[in-house]
Amino acid sequence: MPDLNFDNHFRDLFENTHDLIYFLKIDGEIELANPAWLHTLKYQLADVVGKNIYDFIHPDYKEKYRKNRADVIENNKVKSVEVAFVTSDNELVIGEGQVGCSYIDGEPQYTRCVFKNTTENQRSEKMVRESEKRLKVFLTRGPDAVIIINEYQEILEWNPKAEEIFGFSQEEISGKTLTETIIPPQYREAHLKGMQHFLKTGNGPILNKTVDITALHKNGNEFYINLSISNVKMDEGWLFIAFLSDISERKKTEEALIKKEAELMQSKILEEEKDQFISIASHELRTPITTIKAYTQLTLEMFDNLPSDLQNNLIKIDHYTDKLNVLLNELLDVSKINLGKLNLTKSEINFHTFLPETLNSIQQIVKHQIILEENTEAIIIADPIRLEQVITNLVSNSAKYSPGKDRIIVRSYKEKNQLICSFTDFGIGIAPDNINKLFKRFYRVDQSSKFSGFGIGLYVSREIIKQHGGKMWVESIEGEGSTFYFSLPLQKVST
Ligand code: ADP
Repeated sequence: MPDLNFDNHFRDLFENTHDLIYFLKIDGEIELANPAWLHTLKYQLADVVGKNIYDFIHPDYKEKYRKNRADVIENNKVKSVEVAFVTSDNELVIGEGQVGCSYIDGEPQYTRCVFKNTTENQRSEKMVRESEKRLKVFLTRGPDAVIIINEYQEILEWNPKAEEIFGFSQEEISGKTLTETIIPPQYREAHLKGMQHFLKTGNGPILNKTVDITALHKNGNEFYINLSISNVKMDEGWLFIAFLSDISERKKTEEALIKKEAELMQSKILEEEKDQFISIASHELRTPITTIKAYTQLTLEMFDNLPSDLQNNLIKIDHYTDKLNVLLNELLDVSKINLGKLNLTKSEINFHTFLPETLNSIQQIVKHQIILEENTEAIIIADPIRLEQVITNLVSNSAKYSPGKDRIIVRSYKEKNQLICSFTDFGIGIAPDNINKLFKRFYRVDQSSKFSGFGIGLYVSREIIKQHGGKMWVESIEGEGSTFYFSLPLQKVST
């Protein structure tokens, strides 16, 4: 053992150590404190000597420190103690160390206290604990399922939302791999290859991207999830953090929408094909019909004294050819409307004279008496041929759908800058359920009814009125009769 001057050496140790050291009288009065303690608590020796140690201890730690110290003094043992000192500028210094007691002849003389300053450690431990707490809150309460796996695919983190989405509890899943649980069998190989590729090259095609893919529920059902994976390098290797949500409902809606769109597209194509067929067929039929009509009329004109049966038959052929022509024109109108080619040639019309003239010519072909009960003065801008077509159609319908009745009432009047024209019959009427469907093309209330027709007259009429800036509607009581209306914007109001 070298010859040491203990006093000097211990003084050197006392003054130069980083440990916080002080000596207390039995009542707690500070006898001596080393420079490390003074420096850490930002005091001068003169500030503390003679003061009680409890003046420098945080209130939360006083009681425990007192008890420990009493135990040390009474039982002559060295105790590990944690304490928080308060610095001169009110900061906390956490110390962890030992308190011991010196005795002479069994009498306690003073306590010696040696502490390490663990403030920084505790602060960073606290920060870690707090951030872990925050992370836990995020993992348990967040809206997404969060799964963390290591590079061996083992599941390390599986939050409650993941339990809910996949049906596996944390206990069931922990330590398992994704490939044996939630990755559908058809993707497992690709997933493993992808992982190996990443570990070799650092590239992963779905890393840091958001993708919609399918996953496997515990019950074996495959469903759509929205997934984004991030990767982070830790001491123990790569970690992969996946955020995902169940989007099966959204996918179902999307798929239904796509299906609906496809169906719509299909029916649009069919509609177009139908329109094209109607257009071609009516054009093609027109020539033979015109020829039949021409030859019928020629024969009627050429021979004055045809046998009356033959003449009647020819007149009937002529009449039905006209009907056929009307139907063909209606069909052509439908395809024109759909192709947006129903061109109107508008001019100024004095409706006050136009209406009775039109009704007079219709009266030639309709058995019912057409009564014009009200006829307003009105000037409108319209295509006279198309307008006549609408009026003819409405009056013909009124007659057709009121068999056994003998009157059709027509009125025209003005209402808020509009001309209104109405056609009332006392026929079969229309059930409320059917009212809104009448104007759809090819719609007929009773397909198998005794009334002939295509179900396009009202559709074409309403389109014509619409293209004049007007409206068409109907009021009806089943079994009592109907009133069809159209409105047109008034050009000039003549009074
Ligand atoms: P169509 O008369 O050739 O069937 P429309 O388009 O003119 O075609 O009429 C569509 C349907 O509306 C008719 O089939 C008929 O059921 C109903 N309808 C039209 N006008 C009347 C009316 N005045 N009274 C009762 N029903 C009518």
